[in-house]
Amino acid sequence: MSKIHYKSVEEIELIRKSSLLVSKTLAEIAKVIRPGIKTIELNKLAETFIRDNGGVPAFLNYNGFPYSLCISMNDQVVHGFPNQHVLVEGDLVSVDCGVILNKYYGDSAYTFAIGEVDETVKKLMRVTKESLYLGIEKAVVGQRVGDIGYAVQEHAEKNGFGVVKELVGHGVGLRLHEKPEVPNYGKRGSGIKLEEGMVIAIEPMINAGRAGVKFWDDGWTVSTVDKKPSAHYEHTVAIQKGKADILSTFEEIEEVLKEKVNN
Ligand code: MG
Ligand code: MG
Repeated sequence: MSKIHYKSVEEIELIRKSSLLVSKTLAEIAKVIRPGIKTIELNKLAETFIRDNGGVPAFLNYNGFPYSLCISMNDQVVHGFPNQHVLVEGDLVSVDCGVILNKYYGDSAYTFAIGEVDETVKKLMRVTKESLYLGIEKAVVGQRVGDIGYAVQEHAEKNGFGVVKELVGHGVGLRLHEKPEVPNYGKRGSGIKLEEGMVIAIEPMINAGRAGVKFWDDGWTVSTVDKKPSAHYEHTVAIQKGKADILSTFEEIEEVLKEKVNN
């Protein structure tokens, strides 16, 4: 793979625009995701919304991936296919979305609970999201890639969960997957130095049970070996001094979810 592409301030603003379109798309998903909807309907909605806003769905045809969203249900970890499956109360659904806007990519994922889910699943969602933000705290100049991975892994494992090792975060910009790789595990002070101009996607994939995953014959879907649920949250972030600049946001998604609970 090629070298790390360090971004200018202008490029980071373009990646922010792409990432915010991803976030808005996920907020649209949040509005409609509920028992009774088919996951293929979510895919259609996302594709239309992205195109209506001047973007191109980044996952569609990426290495042959046939959909605009990755929708991974329950024991599926990532890269699941939207299909005719009808969501039911208690499902756990991770939705991963990418867009290309003005040639730049944005990438973010959110895991949704369908109605009431059990306590372990609630804890899995909370801990996975917390581990994402703990990783982001380390995504600053002076730290190393291993510090991000260590923060994610330490929090997840302390809570009794398994950290997926086969799939990792990544640089993002003019391509969906750039250097460096950003594992969700690691040793403090190890790996490449984080420097200004780096833009990375941090994306913990955390399993309620064991860390092991299997790869399906469809060439894409990844699921847990022990069939227990898995959660996935992802932000695109720019490395800076002091505090990471999170280019995607969960704010709108969570406003929508809060309103749904109150209605
Ligand atoms: Mg993603
Ligand atoms: Mg990603």
